[in-house]
Amino acid sequence: MAARRKVALVGIGKIARDQHVPALAASPDWALAATVSRSGAIDGVESHTDFAAMLAARPDIGTVSLCMPPVPRYDYAAAALRAGRHVMLEKPPGATLAEVHDLQRLADAAGLTLFATWHSRMAHAVAPARAWLADRTVRTAHITWREDVRKWHPGQDWVFEPGGMGVFDPGINALSILTHILPAPVHLTAATLEFPSNRQTPIAADLSFSGGVTANFDWRQEGPQTWDIEVETDRGAIALRMGGNRLEVDGAEVAGENSIMGEYPALYAQMARLVETGLSDVDLAPMVHVADAMTLGRRVTVAPFDF
Ligand code: NAP
Repeated sequence: MAARRKVALVGIGKIARDQHVPALAASPDWALAATVSRSGAIDGVESHTDFAAMLAARPDIGTVSLCMPPVPRYDYAAAALRAGRHVMLEKPPGATLAEVHDLQRLADAAGLTLFATWHSRMAHAVAPARAWLADRTVRTAHITWREDVRKWHPGQDWVFEPGGMGVFDPGINALSILTHILPAPVHLTAATLEFPSNRQTPIAADLSFSGGVTANFDWRQEGPQTWDIEVETDRGAIALRMGGNRLEVDGAEVAGENSIMGEYPALYAQMARLVETGLSDVDLAPMVHVADAMTLGRRVTVAPFDF
């Protein structure tokens, strides 16, 4: 077996602990060689608090995986690429489209891999849904993405700060699936965004797209969570449920898992293939829809929100 490649994990918070660390521990491709975080560390792994110091101290670590929120991520990614390291980005890949274009330019110029990950695209039922839709004509599609921000982002005020994207932080997962499975692209035509009176980003959004596609995102849902995409075509209907992990065709379940735990191992396997083959994978289509919603959206002020 080939030696595992060394990776440094940067930003040891909720998603690093929930998904990246277990995925790396089980990976045949990667060895977690160091972490960088101002306050977090992983037992048994060399830890740094300063990113530049880690890059200088560990030239043998060829890849960094960035798990901090989107606003600070560009500076870390650019520094890593300038230091000759391959870079894997959590979703959403940045705070703005232009900064991710710039990262792509840096990676291309240096012959390095940049992987803008979309973990929901790795959900169990997404590939079969994409294959099923490939030769059909979509009549309508509706996304219902309603979850509890207190459960998934406990105390994370950054989601309500500029660049935190608010309810689009989970909503972009739905858009990453939509843009991957639809056989033809769509574009946003209207949006209504609900902003808590004390916050900078929306807590709910209703979106309309060309091609009969609509979406409802809401971060105030307590109890059971809903992550559904329902698509009607010229020849039957499908529903993706559980964030893309279960698939129904004409009302009957045909594929699925209740767990999302396969998504991050699949991302790291893909990163290994990209590094091996010298390629990048940066698809900004989901983020274009979010930027368009922020551009075109009608603003409604709703009740203040506190964690
Ligand atoms: P988080 O726990 O709030 O933040 C992760 C870590 O980033 C923090 O522990 C912090 O580490 C570091 N960080 C925060 N602000 C920083 C700054 N200004 N500069 C440098 N480092 C900073 O957030 P998270 O939930 O893990 O989310 C991080 C990313 O993963 C987001 O893009 C999110 O969309 C994505 N994601 C999250 C989930 C989820 O369920 N929460 C699921 C999938 C994807 P230190 O303070 O120790 O440096």
